Amino acid sequence: MTKKLYEIGEQPPLGEVPETMHAWVIRPERFGEPKDSFQLEVIDTPEIADNEVLVYVMAAGVNYNNVWAGLGLPVNVIAARQKAGEKEAFHIGGSDASGIVYKVGKNVSHVKVGDEVVAHCGTWDEHCPVVQRGEDPMFSPSFRIWGYETNYGSFAQFTRVQAQQVLPKPRHLSWEEAASYMLVGATAYRQLTGWEPHAVKHDDVVLIWGGAGGLGSMAIQIVKALGGIPIAVVSSPDKVDYCMNLGAKGVINRKEFDHWGMLPHWKDAVGYGKWLSGVRKFGKALWDAIGEKRSPRIVFEHPGESTMPTSLFVTDTGGMVVICAGTTGYNATVDLRYLWMRQKRVQGSHFANRDQADQFNRLVLENKIDPCLSRTFTWNHLWEPHQLMHDNQHPHGNMAVLVGANEAGQGISIQAQRPDLGTGVLDQGEPEETYTTVKRPALSLKPVDDGTTVGVLMHEGVLTCPTSTGLDEVAGLMVKHSIHALVVTDAEDAAVGVISQTDLVLARQGRSNKERCLMNAEDIMTPGLVTCRRTTPVSEAITTMTRQGIHRLVVVEQRGKRSVPVGVVSMTDIIRRMLDEEDKPNF
Ligand code: NAP
Repeated sequence: MTKKLYEIGEQPPLGEVPETMHAWVIRPERFGEPKDSFQLEVIDTPEIADNEVLVYVMAAGVNYNNVWAGLGLPVNVIAARQKAGEKEAFHIGGSDASGIVYKVGKNVSHVKVGDEVVAHCGTWDEHCPVVQRGEDPMFSPSFRIWGYETNYGSFAQFTRVQAQQVLPKPRHLSWEEAASYMLVGATAYRQLTGWEPHAVKHDDVVLIWGGAGGLGSMAIQIVKALGGIPIAVVSSPDKVDYCMNLGAKGVINRKEFDHWGMLPHWKDAVGYGKWLSGVRKFGKALWDAIGEKRSPRIVFEHPGESTMPTSLFVTDTGGMVVICAGTTGYNATVDLRYLWMRQKRVQGSHFANRDQADQFNRLVLENKIDPCLSRTFTWNHLWEPHQLMHDNQHPHGNMAVLVGANEAGQGISIQAQRPDLGTGVLDQGEPEETYTTVKRPALSLKPVDDGTTVGVLMHEGVLTCPTSTGLDEVAGLMVKHSIHALVVTDAEDAAVGVISQTDLVLARQGRSNKERCLMNAEDIMTPGLVTCRRTTPVSEAITTMTRQGIHRLVVVEQRGKRSVPVGVVSMTDIIRRMLDEEDKPNF
C-alpha cells in the first residue's frame, strides 16, 4: 500500500506514486529575495497528461530564472499562468533535474518506468502548427521553459515533464552532477552550433564572456570539443586557471579595461576617441591571447549592454555575435558603420530544441564535457544557492541540490576518466570612412576638451527633498524654482536618487488619485545618481551624459564616507561656456 507522503530521501517503491510530496514553493504573497520567497510545503503530486512523464527527482540544478520567479519580476509567472487558465496559485520552480521515471503517459513509448534520466527544459505544444509543420519548436508561440514558465519543476520530490524532455543520464556522473549542466549547456550549444553558417568549425576563434560562469564554462568546452579556439573573458585572476583547465587557449581579465557600457555618441569626438582606444587595447589583448592577429568568427554574448559594443567591434568581418541574455542591461548600442562595412551579424538565441539538447547530452555521455559542478546543497538549504545567485556571491560553474539522493556522489554506475580537457585562447582595422569631410569656416564656439573642469562652469547648490516628500510637493518645488529635476536625500542627507519631471508624469499615468496620494519621492525616484566632481574634465562629463541619455550631472564632494551633492552641471552650462560672451545670443 503506497504511503500518502514519503520523507525526503525515503524512496518510494519503483512506480508507486504517493498522493502528496514535499516541495519548495513560491507564492505571490511572499515574493521577494529567495530566503523569503522559497518555503517548504506539502503539495498534491501532479497528474500527468498522455504525452508526459512523472520523474522522481534525485537532484535539481540551480539557475537564475527561479531567483526571478521568487522576486515576481520581471513577470509574475503565477499570474501569467492563471491568466492562461491554470488554477494553481503557487510556483514550484526548477529547470534542471536528474531522476528516475516513475510513471509514463499512455502515448509515451521511448521511456519506461525505472529509466535513469536528465531533463532539458524546453516544452511546447505538440499540436501547435509550427511544431506540426516540422519547424524548430523554439519558434513556436507555445514554447515555455519548464520549471519557470511552467509549474511543477524539479524543486520537489516529483516533477512533471513532457516525454520529449527526457534524455539518458550519463552513467559516469553522480545525480547532482547530472542535474547541473543541461540548461546552460544546451543553451550554449544552440548558440555555438544552431546558427549556420556560424556554427563552430575547426580552428574558429570564439570569444566567450564570463568564461568561469555557468554558460561560459560550457561554451569553452563545447568550442574545444568542436575543434575551435576558445578565448575566455573573466573579472579576476583566480578564474584564469579555471578557464585554461576547461580548454581556453587564453584568458583576458576585463578589469584591466574601462571602456565598458553604452557607446559614447558618435558626435562626441573626444568620448568616442577614448572609447576607441579602450576597445583597441582590448583587441590587442585578444590577439595576444590567441597568439596571432586573428579576430573571433563568433562572439558568445550574454552580459549585453556593457559588452555588446566591444563584441561587435572585435568580431571578424562576416562574423557573428550570438546573444542569449542581457545581464547588465538591454540597451545594446551598435556603431552601424562596423556592422554594415564589415558585414557582421547579431543573432538572438534562446535555450535549445530537443535535437540540440540531445546532441549536447551526447557530448556529456561521451565524457567530453565536464558539468563544472562547483557546489552541492542539501534539500533543506535549497533557497541558499538562489540567495547566493541573487547576491552575486555564487561560485564558478554550476550548483545543484540533493532531493531524493541521500548524499553527494550517489548515482555513478560506471567509472570514467574525467575528460582531458587540455589547456589552451584579432585583425580589426577601422571601417572605411563612409562620409566625406566638407570644409567649413571655423566656428566661434570655444572648445570644451581643452582641460576645462566641471568646477569652472557648474551651478553651485542643489535643490533636494527627503525621500518621504509627497508628489504634489515635489511638483510644486520644480515649478516654483523652474527646475527639471530634484535630488532625493535620506535621513543622513546623503543623496540616494533623483526625480525628473518625466518621473512625475509617469507616476501619474494609469494610477488613481488615491494611489498617487500614497506615493512619495522614494517610490518614483531613479535610485542612484549619475555624478561627477568639480575636478572632472568637461569632456568626460559630456561623454557620461551622452552615454546615459541625460542632460545634467549632479556634482558631488566626498565628506567622510558620504558623497554630498554640491551643485549641478548641465548641457546648457556647457553651451554657455562654448559661446564667446560677445556672441552670446539673447535667449
Ligand atoms: P553566471 O554563472 O552568473 O555567469 C555570468 C558571468 O557573466 C559571470 O561569471 C561574470 O563573469 C560575467 N559577467 C558579469 N557581469 C559582467 C559584465 N559587466 N561584463 C562582462 N561579463 C560579466 O550566469 P550564467 O548561468 O552563465 O547566465 C548568464 C546569463 O544568461 C543570465 O542572465 C542568465 O539568466 C542567462 N541565460 C539565458 C538563457 C537563455 O536560454 N536565454 C539560458 C541560460 C542563461 P566575470 O565577472 O568573471 O567576467
